[in-house]
Amino acid sequence: MIRIEQLHKNYTVDGRSVSALRNINLQVRKGSVFGIIGRSGAGKSTLLRALNLLERPSGGHVYIDGQDITLLDSTGLHQLRQRVGMVFQHFNLLNAKTVAENIDFPLKLAGQHTREQRSRRVDELLELVGLADQKDKYPSQLSGGQKQRVGIARAIANYPHLLLCDEATSALDPETTQAILRLLLDINQKLGLTIVLITHEMQVIRTLCDQVAVIDAGEIVESGDVTDVFLHPQHAVTKSLVAENQALDMDDLNFSGRAPGSLLLRLTYTGAATWQPILSRIAAQTKAQMAILQGTIARIKNTPYGQLLVELDATAAEKESLFELFRQMQVRYEIIEGEAR
Ligand code: ADP
Repeated sequence: MIRIEQLHKNYTVDGRSVSALRNINLQVRKGSVFGIIGRSGAGKSTLLRALNLLERPSGGHVYIDGQDITLLDSTGLHQLRQRVGMVFQHFNLLNAKTVAENIDFPLKLAGQHTREQRSRRVDELLELVGLADQKDKYPSQLSGGQKQRVGIARAIANYPHLLLCDEATSALDPETTQAILRLLLDINQKLGLTIVLITHEMQVIRTLCDQVAVIDAGEIVESGDVTDVFLHPQHAVTKSLVAENQALDMDDLNFSGRAPGSLLLRLTYTGAATWQPILSRIAAQTKAQMAILQGTIARIKNTPYGQLLVELDATAAEKESLFELFRQMQVRYEIIEGEAR
């Protein structure tokens, strides 16, 4: 659906060229939700805006459904913007227009429908985003969450193939954020619409996305299935974003007092393995002493997972048989501190 190849972007600031994106290569599958995460200033907005040419790349290619959009003329660009909807962090609604008029606006601009057809489409969209009873209100009379529902309805009014979300929930409280994320997921599943979103919050990625790319200083430092990236982060930036989401502070654990020869281990298991009686099997098969320091069972989109941080006090032979047991149970283990033997 989307293929980004060797994308570069330089801005000119005070006569000097500043690199905002460097050699970006990504692929987004049709119908999937793809998240781009990074700290402020990493290049997320620039990358997202390259997908509808709100920002023209300095080099490289962006293919959408096989077409290189960097080569489009103004007519092509106009058509592209109808196939690619966008949702903004600060909603960008027209304050002098009602909810219904805001949603009608892109339909009117497209100029392809009669007034009756547009009115029917607006009602359908209001129903879809749960605002059927708010159609004659003005944006100033709506909550943040309701404003974003209008933003979403407007973005998908012209049946786009692709929806771009620019920090769509960053201005909302946690509860409203969850409701908006559920709405986006619902739209993705019901309409089969491909979604590309940018965020600085791992929670958004974890709830909504199938794949993720981590961007830092204009470069993609890690990418893949969300389950893999979230549970086994490789890059320092990814690790810190994941740790923030898990509220896991290693300093709080005060592990300095561990027994000589003991290990600090992180055990991770996903899917069906999540429901195995892991601890009782370990207890039944080894004399090793294991203390749980922290434990979680949660979900990454549709995938359940469990994670345990444990201190293991065991002989070298016991460690070896325990590691074998972990492999049999498809539990991944990571040694955080201590020696494997
Ligand atoms: P993010 O969305 O991750 O916060 P941006 O894509 O907005 O990052 O910015 C990436 C880098 O490009 C930053 O260093 C930013 O200052 C710079 N930048 C963004 N837009 C412009 C612009 N219009 N002119 C000059 N520099 C810009």
